Amino acid sequence: MKCNEVKKNLMSYLDGKVDKELRLLIEEHLNQCSSCREQVSLLSNIADLYKKDSPFPLPHGLKDELTQLIKKSCKK
Ligand SMILES: [Zn+2]
Repeated sequence: MKCNEVKKNLMSYLDGKVDKELRLLIEEHLNQCSSCREQVSLLSNIADLYKKDSPFPLPHGLKDELTQLIKKSCKK
């Protein structure tokens, strides 16, 4: 799996919305790719902040923005 495929699915992955097969592929990639690992920890920190400080789910707009940001940061 390539970085851009992983990053495309990262928000769903963190939401637990990817199927088992895809999750395994993503985790396999994360084991080998420090760039994507950084993105995951960044995103999960943001998601955690939202869960803690807000009774509302992560706004859709913000999710899209984050996804765009991640895609732009992809170098491969
Ligand atoms: Zn990667």
